[in-house]
Amino acid sequence: MQLKFFNGELMVYRIEIERDLCISCENCVNECESMFEMDNGISKLISGDINDDNISIKEYEDISCGIDAAEMCPAECIIVYEDNVAIN
Ligand code: SF4
Repeated sequence: MQLKFFNGELMVYRIEIERDLCISCENCVNECESMFEMDNGISKLISGDINDDNISIKEYEDISCGIDAAEMCPAECIIVYEDNVAIN
């Protein structure tokens, strides 16, 4: 568990996948199958939303393996935010 607190507030992580840039390598799923899945050959976040710009978005209290998955993405299309600041 990697729960982080600042002034007693739980810090919130958010992952975004720019699905238009995904090259379907499945590295993210292999690295972090609890958070990522393939959807018609393109990565998405399990139980996340997909917005009008084809970006998969989900917030988390525990970043778990999400940062590792982002670092394994050859297309650099997975962005991890901590309190709205990109950390990868
Ligand atoms: S690692 Fe990146 S390019 Fe590969 S499937 Fe996941 S999001 Fe797509």
